[in-house]
Amino acid sequence: NVPLEQEDPEIYDLIQKEKWRQFSCLELIASENFTSQAVMEANGSALTNKYSEGLPGARFYGGNEHIDVIENLCRTRAIKAFNLNSEEWGVNVQPYSGTTANFSALTALLSPHDRIMGLELASGGHLTHGHQTAKKKISSSAIYFESFPYQVDPDTGLVDYEKLAQNADAFRPKLIICGASAYPRDWDYARLRAIADKHGAYLMADIAHISGLVATGEQSSPFDLCDVVTTTTHKTLRGPRAGLLFFHKGEKGTLRGDLEERCNFAVFPSNQGGPHNNTIAAVAVALKQVATPAFKEYAQQVRKNAKAVADTLLKHGYKLASGGTENHLVLWDLRPINLNGNKMEKICDALNITLNKNSIAGDTSAFVPGGVRIGAPALTSRSLKEADFVQVAEFLHEAAQLAIKIQNTSGKLIKDFVAAMEKEPAVEELRLRVQNFATQFPMPGFDPSSIPA
Ligand code: PLP
Repeated sequence: NVPLEQEDPEIYDLIQKEKWRQFSCLELIASENFTSQAVMEANGSALTNKYSEGLPGARFYGGNEHIDVIENLCRTRAIKAFNLNSEEWGVNVQPYSGTTANFSALTALLSPHDRIMGLELASGGHLTHGHQTAKKKISSSAIYFESFPYQVDPDTGLVDYEKLAQNADAFRPKLIICGASAYPRDWDYARLRAIADKHGAYLMADIAHISGLVATGEQSSPFDLCDVVTTTTHKTLRGPRAGLLFFHKGEKGTLRGDLEERCNFAVFPSNQGGPHNNTIAAVAVALKQVATPAFKEYAQQVRKNAKAVADTLLKHGYKLASGGTENHLVLWDLRPINLNGNKMEKICDALNITLNKNSIAGDTSAFVPGGVRIGAPALTSRSLKEADFVQVAEFLHEAAQLAIKIQNTSGKLIKDFVAAMEKEPAVEELRLRVQNFATQFPMPGFDPSSIPA
């Protein structure tokens, strides 16, 4: 029983450094969060030792009496967290990630070469919703199925439902996927259901980003109108890294009739082997937390905080995709200030601000995304409130102004920009202010005194 610190000091040291990075930076990646000590404990437990292919009560291995109880608890808590009726909805809690949950859903619903329509990556959609470029099919969801993505309207930044309906008339999809990785607005599920019904298509919602907001009623629920719903568990849901696949238990002989068998079979044996029982236990812990009043408050605060960032950036005259936000994220369109997402991400990294470059609808190059994505879930878990997020947005404003100043002297090439940035004393001055601000806030599962100065 040698502790990690002695068994493998190299890895131990890197974990310590990563903890310090997380603590001393402003974490604004919209898909990340800080999970709790309890979740991390379950995730790092002896359950990782066990094989349990199959479902509770029907395993291909012995010794699963406790694992069965854990997986059943996780399933019950997932149904409860989203306020579902277990007569109508079931869930498979074994997907290793959002990607495998999504591909399992496609495997369950479709035959090879069936047609799918999902939101285009450049419009904020996810790879797994049928991503391809003009030259190449990128995601297996585009390799094994025929994909015809829909878009947001570049003027409004909102999903262009009208054009989607017209294209669906021509393409006649078997599945419409809604959900996104970079979309600051809620979804019109009724509109999408009507389009799907016209073509006898399935409707799937991937609520990976917003599931914590859906569970708490902060975004509209897709469950009334969709056939399957997938989510990751590590974003706004604040659990460990995994996926969930919910399926409607419809009448036998209807479109939804045998989704339970098909979804379960699609996860195992079609796409996965043994479930990660340690992760399933940790998901169960997170879902217990999701059902509490404290989590409801958290989800409300996430939205207020994202709005505080949006309002502050708008006050400074910047442009935001869709003009603002009604969920956990803001898409900042940097094109009007003649800056791009690559440079903004680079300068933010140098300033202890972690965010990511993101394309903005209407971008002309996939390699030079026009904006950055800013998310509130992680820092809200570190107890920041609206006034703190106003300060975060002020730091972002300073970062953008500094980037413009550096760009004006360095020229447009990213390598010249980085070289000039490294020589600019104002960068270190601002980085220290950001670090001093970030380290005021506690981080779940982290004791700052555990890191030597
Ligand atoms: N679906 C959406 C909407 C996502 O944003 C993501 C990841 O960011 C995924 C699916 C994939 O999740 P994972 O990284 O767990 O495979």
